[in-house]
Amino acid sequence: MENLKEHPEIYSLIKKEEERQETTLCMIPSENYCSKAVKEATASVLMNKYAEGYPKKRYYQGNVFIDDVELITIEKAKKLFNAEHANVQSLSGSPANMAVYFALLNLNDKVLAMNLSHGGHLTHGSKVNFSGKLYNFIEYEVEKETEVIDMDKIRKIAELEKPKLILSGFTAYPRKIDFKEFDDIAKSVNAISMADISHIAGLIVSEAHPSPLPFTDVITTTTHKTLRGPRGAIILCKEKFAKDIDKAVFPGLQGGPHENIIAAKAVCFEEALKPEFKDYGKQIVKNAKALAETLMSENIKLVSNGTDTHLILIDLIRTKSIGKEGFGKDVAVALEEAGIVTNANSIPFDTSTPFKPSGVRLGTSALTTRAMKENEMLEIGKYIADIINNLSDLELRQKIRNKVLNLCQNFPIYKND
Ligand SMILES: *Cc1c(COP(=O)(O)O)cnc(C)c1O
Repeated sequence: MENLKEHPEIYSLIKKEEERQETTLCMIPSENYCSKAVKEATASVLMNKYAEGYPKKRYYQGNVFIDDVELITIEKAKKLFNAEHANVQSLSGSPANMAVYFALLNLNDKVLAMNLSHGGHLTHGSKVNFSGKLYNFIEYEVEKETEVIDMDKIRKIAELEKPKLILSGFTAYPRKIDFKEFDDIAKSVNAISMADISHIAGLIVSEAHPSPLPFTDVITTTTHKTLRGPRGAIILCKEKFAKDIDKAVFPGLQGGPHENIIAAKAVCFEEALKPEFKDYGKQIVKNAKALAETLMSENIKLVSNGTDTHLILIDLIRTKSIGKEGFGKDVAVALEEAGIVTNANSIPFDTSTPFKPSGVRLGTSALTTRAMKENEMLEIGKYIADIINNLSDLELRQKIRNKVLNLCQNFPIYKND
């Protein structure tokens, strides 16, 4: 970053952020560390080019090489996910979902999706989001006892409400999703089936979680979560929806695509097509299960009592040492002081507000990228439990901070950069 040194404010902040990432444990389940190759493609001269339109049908000259970049990215996306059609221009997960709704729905059409505080995403019908403002979202929830979704209940809601689209795929749900059953329900009521696999795409291509393809009508995913690519998204769909989806992305919603990011997506897909990536995805889940077991053995209550994915949701109301609503943020702040970076999150049937939620969300995808395994998860699980179970002990946080630092040094992210 020699040239960036001439911009000392930003240079020093990037350096500090680099140091923060190297010296803390990233346990936010939506984050990861992309490869150096992904970073290089992202920072390349491709960012200088306008390429409105699609390969071979551009509104600007000078796109000979850009066309090939985008065609290669499309081919790799189709191969990786076994999809009929791929649009790789979506700027991020939220605009990808917006493009799908624009393509396949009319305003105020009825959509069936998961309740936000039970694991759905903002773009799945939240009242403060465009989705909830423009479309008529109705909700399903997890069961109170098991904290898992009941497919029979979802089928009944679908039969009663006859939505135009049924959405699965979540943002804070630790358990396996039965995409086949979701698709069957959609077909039985003549609805479009959509799966938003933003969180678990990396697990799906690793065969660590069942895939919604090839049967689901439309699939959206970010590329920067478990998939470990650049910040962005893609839309996959059946051929019969291809034209509408492409038109909704451009010119419907976006102008010039970010071709540097599109190239970085191709690099990410190439990495994910390698056999090593399957080991990576499977290790993410093994690590999450090891972490979940450790936390539970230390009297930390987990939503649904465990995980099948990369994601764990701690229920602080039913964790004995806390036992009250609204402590998610306090715990997340305490963990951060010890070098463990997480996020406060609502839990199903949370009695507190989204601004003061009662849960903490954890994930293992970034730590697994650092080559950490079950042993490290046992160690980290004990640290997390210690801090939660002794929330007023400030000295303990500092002690754990030093141990975390040591652990980070043994598992560097970007060696020799
Ligand atoms: C992260 C996420 C998104 C949004 O992605 P952004 O890139 O943050 O816009 C959409 N849906 C789900 C399920 C997600 O987890």
